Amino acid sequence: MVIHHGYAQNSVNGRTSEPGLVDLPTTSEEITVSSFDYDLFVIGAGSGGVRAARMAAGFGAKVAIAEDRYMGGTCVNVGCVPKKLYVYAAEYGKGFKDAQGFGWQSTAPQFDWTTLRDNKKTEISRLNAIYQKLLDGAGAQVFDGRARIIDAHTVAIGESRYTAEKILIATGGWPHIPDFPGSEYAVSSNEIFDLDSFPERVVIVGGGYIAVEFAGIFNGLGAQTTQLYRGPLFLRGFDTDIRAHAAQEIAKSGVDLRFEVNVESISKEPDGLRLQLTDGSVLQADAVLYATGRKAHLQGLGLENVNVNVNEHGAIDVDEHYCTSEPSIFALGDVTGGIELTPVALAEGMAFARRNFGDLDNQVAYDFIPTAVFCQPTIGTVGFTEVEARAKFGDITLFKSSFRAMKHTISGRDEKAFMKLIVDTATDRVVGVHMMGPDAGEIIQGIAIAMRAGATKAVFDSTIGIHPTTAEEFVTLREPWLED
Ligand code: FAD
Ligand code: NDP
Repeated sequence: MVIHHGYAQNSVNGRTSEPGLVDLPTTSEEITVSSFDYDLFVIGAGSGGVRAARMAAGFGAKVAIAEDRYMGGTCVNVGCVPKKLYVYAAEYGKGFKDAQGFGWQSTAPQFDWTTLRDNKKTEISRLNAIYQKLLDGAGAQVFDGRARIIDAHTVAIGESRYTAEKILIATGGWPHIPDFPGSEYAVSSNEIFDLDSFPERVVIVGGGYIAVEFAGIFNGLGAQTTQLYRGPLFLRGFDTDIRAHAAQEIAKSGVDLRFEVNVESISKEPDGLRLQLTDGSVLQADAVLYATGRKAHLQGLGLENVNVNVNEHGAIDVDEHYCTSEPSIFALGDVTGGIELTPVALAEGMAFARRNFGDLDNQVAYDFIPTAVFCQPTIGTVGFTEVEARAKFGDITLFKSSFRAMKHTISGRDEKAFMKLIVDTATDRVVGVHMMGPDAGEIIQGIAIAMRAGATKAVFDSTIGIHPTTAEEFVTLREPWLED
């Protein structure tokens, strides 16, 4: 770590920096202990950047962090947090109907988009202020502006330049909408939360997390919702049984789910948007959400000024310690194109700060990362899919169960839960757990701990269940699933 004397001379590359005093070092010892404005300059105050900045500052480093859009990044502003709030809102839609079977006699209240949107805005502003306070409290210098890398140790924000021993790129990702006639009429997840008015007819393009979650949100809020996916079965990368079960449940819940189809063009008409589809059909919509993936956010970052490798997917290449091909520049989180989840970015931020500014050199464990898709019901998953497990372990034993959750025996809702355990037959270790059902995210989080601890099927079997819950099914699955 450098000790700050306010030198303007950069001892590593000899460049001068604007802030600080012109008090040139005279001995080699002084040269090694001084010189940069900051120990660490973080670009991007999202999940990974804030965590790295706070922790590095906590270890005593002199830290700056630049953010040009919103404190807290994607997750807080246009990702996990507003999405989950909208999922809660959507679940009320069906909840009012469910309640009638339990004796609650009333007509469903009307949904008001403006109330949801504006309450969401208030909550996000509160979180933005908390993030600012956390950084201030940690002693990090926060710059409100777009950062551009000038050289291996210099960052510019507007006309001002700052030097740092290490630069951390944590600029996240940005929605990618393919180019096609009328693509300008489509919105991305960045805009969808704040539409002026509620879209009564929504078309969602894509078959990943965002598309599936927003199909559930708009369907639950009462919009006529169509989801289009270009392949034969959406949620590529998830276990095949889960994908099939999700398709069945989501279609049953009221989403017009169409596979093997894409949008050819969108045009604007007096009564909304007209979508020409590849199968020759036409759809009318008030909003078209494109959830067709995200790309690393590198625009205007100045990477052309340094030796930072960008891979064929447009993401920054890093080694296991998040170091880029430029030794003083690091990158983590979505911008590296890894597992695009907030807890992963947080873990990487922590590991980076510990290794570079603390006294611990622990690596992020990338195996058995649990994840959830917040559709209705929720998908929760951890470990290998069946296809992956078969390829890795050869002989596997499967346990599956599909049932109607107790709540829906009386609510009358036509919804089924599905649960699946994948066991490595040779060791009895549970290597994959997948479910679609109520509270799957909450359940799988706990299961993930057991999996990381190496739990075997025998351990699952000897665990006493909590009755009556959906989760107890995981400890009572006795009969292996026999292949047809
Ligand atoms: P980000 O959080 O994207 O932060 C990057 C920050 O850098 C941004 O604030 C950006 O403005 C800033 N920035 C970029 N360039 C510059 C620059 N040159 N100068 C200054 N600042 C700059 N993950 C989950 O785990 N659970 C979920 O439920 C979930 N839901 C999601 C829902 C949606 C709709 C989306 C889009 C994402 C969701 N994610 C979810 C993913 C999660 O949001 C990301 O994985 C996470 O935010 C990545 O963190 P990050 O620090 O890498 O980047
Ligand atoms: P994903 O990569 O998950 O999904 C993109 C989808 O768009 C895929 O179905 C893909 O199809 C499809 N697609 C890509 N290009 C086109 C095209 N040109 N035309 C039609 N369809 C196309 O990205 P998302 O945008 O949904 O989400 C980004 C990431 O954010 C996720 O991967 C996840 O890591 C994170 N996230 C996490 C959430 C959570 O934890 N709950 C929630 C939301 C996001 P194909 O499969 O055929 O390639």
